[in-house]
Amino acid sequence: MTRLFFTWDDGHPDDLRLAALHEKYGVPCMLFVPAANAEGRPVLTAGALRGICGGNVEAGAHTYRHRYLTELQPGEVTAELTDGKKYLEDAIGSPVEHFCFPGGRYNRQILRETLRIYKTARTAEIMRTRHRFPLVDTTFHFFPRGWRSALYHSCRNREGSLLRAALQSCGRRGYFEFMERYLTSAAEKGEEERDVIIWGHSWELTERRLWGQLERLLQLVSGSLRGCTAKYSQIYING
Ligand SMILES: [Zn+2]
Repeated sequence: MTRLFFTWDDGHPDDLRLAALHEKYGVPCMLFVPAANAEGRPVLTAGALRGICGGNVEAGAHTYRHRYLTELQPGEVTAELTDGKKYLEDAIGSPVEHFCFPGGRYNRQILRETLRIYKTARTAEIMRTRHRFPLVDTTFHFFPRGWRSALYHSCRNREGSLLRAALQSCGRRGYFEFMERYLTSAAEKGEEERDVIIWGHSWELTERRLWGQLERLLQLVSGSLRGCTAKYSQIYING
């Protein structure tokens, strides 16, 4: 069967709008939230985060200060991983088991340390529908990357079904239509086990004016694809 997950990174205050949309359509999502952002972007307060978690919205860790772990000393890596977890657990009042690498950046040593602390680690690898558990890869970045990027990454990741769908879309349709088409056909082909993970950033939705596009997708999902939606905390089931 096809399972569909939504994950949103960085904990920008616009995540409030995201959470409201996911609740409106009854579609679960995971927010990967740091306590602060070294690049200067605003981050939700602990109280605001607590207010939106529960129901369809879950939270996972994204380091303490949104630092790229590959740029840090080993001791700093451990501190970012553990401080981020503690901050989030205090904020939402429940255990935090899932993590996402800022910028998708990690190496073998960082991965080992991450998995000592968390159950899973999400990458920024796209055009994948099978994971390398406990690494969780993604399928679509909710951002107008274009079909050329879809083609390149599906070739690179040897994802036949995505490659076929991307080729069919070449030059004729936009990236979001490709995404919707792929989701609909994946949901119909129930025999194949696959996880479709859509990820993005609420600040990017604002900058690129993609809120209407997202609402359109959530409408589609809450209608004909509702049976595919799943909570990220259940990603290990079937995994
Ligand atoms: Zn991030």
